Amino acid sequence: MTRIVIAGPRGNMGQEAVKLCLREESFELVAVVDSKNDGKQLKDLQEFQQGDVPVYTDMARCFAEHEPDVLIDLTAPAFGRKHMEVAFEHGVRPVVGTTGFSDEDIRDLTKLAEAKELGAIIAPNFAIGAILMMKFAQTAARYMNDVEIIEQHHDRKLDAPSGTAVKTAQLIAEVRAPKKQGHEQEREEMAGARGADFDGMKIHSVRLPGRVAHQEVLFGGVGQTLSIRHDSLNRESFMPGVKLAVEQVVKLSTLVYGLENLID
Ligand code: NAP
Repeated sequence: MTRIVIAGPRGNMGQEAVKLCLREESFELVAVVDSKNDGKQLKDLQEFQQGDVPVYTDMARCFAEHEPDVLIDLTAPAFGRKHMEVAFEHGVRPVVGTTGFSDEDIRDLTKLAEAKELGAIIAPNFAIGAILMMKFAQTAARYMNDVEIIEQHHDRKLDAPSGTAVKTAQLIAEVRAPKKQGHEQEREEMAGARGADFDGMKIHSVRLPGRVAHQEVLFGGVGQTLSIRHDSLNRESFMPGVKLAVEQVVKLSTLVYGLENLID
C-alpha cells in the first residue's frame, strides 16, 4: 500500500487525483494539503461527498503526523519547488504535475534528490498521448528543422508558455542545431506577434475559456508541412500518467523530469 498526500485537492487536477487515490486499491490517501480548510475532513469540503481524510494547510506538520510515501503536488507554479523541498526534508517522494519550473530549479532539485537518495518525478504533462506527441516531434525535428509550437489552454492557467511546450522545445533542441527562423529582416509591428523564442523556434500560447490542454507542433519544409497534434479533452486524461508516476517513484532514487523517461 502506498501512503499518499495530495496538495491542491480542490483544484481541477487535484479533484481527479483524489478520485484516483480513493479508487486504487494499492493507494491510501492519508491526508491532503489545501490553501485553506485546516482541521476539516475532505468530506466536509463542497467539492467532495466522501473521504475521512484530514485537511492541513501546513505541509511540514502533515508529513510529520502521517509519514506518507508520496506527495502528489498539483498546486500553482509559485509553490512547486518549495513543496518538493519540504517533501525531501521529510523523506517523502514527490510526484509533481505543477508547472513553471526553471532549468535552475530542476538542477537544484536533482542535486537535492540525489543527496537524499529519494525518487522524484516532475511531469509537465501526465497525458500519455502528449508524451507520444513530444517523442514524435523530436523524431520529426531530425529531418525538418523549421518548427513552431502552438499550445492552447484554459484561461485560468498561470504560466506561459506551458511546461509541455517548454519540454517539447527542449527535446527538439537536443536534435536540432539552433536556427533563427523566418525572414532574417523580419520585425514585429506589435510586441509578441512572433511568440516566444527558444533557440530560434517560436512558441505561441493561446488562453481561452473552454479549452483544456492542447498542443500542435508545426514543421515546414520545401513544398510540405507536417502537424503533430495532441488534445487533452478533460483532466481524467492525466490520471493514468499520475498512477504510473506514483508506482514508479517509489522505485527511484533520483529525480526524473518528464514522463517520457519512464516509458519505452
Ligand atoms: P487549479 O484548478 O487552479 O487548482 C490549483 C489548486 O491548488 C487550487 O485548489 C489552489 O487553492 C491550490 N493551491 C494553490 N496553492 C496552494 C498551496 N500552497 N498549498 C495547497 N494548495 C494550494 O489548477 P489545476 O488546473 O488543477 O492545475 C494545477 C497545476 O497543475 C498547475 O500548475 C497546472 O499548470 C498544472 N497542470 C499539470 C498538468 C500535467 O499533466 N502535469 C495538467 C494540467 C495542469 P486556491 O484556489 O485556494 O488557491
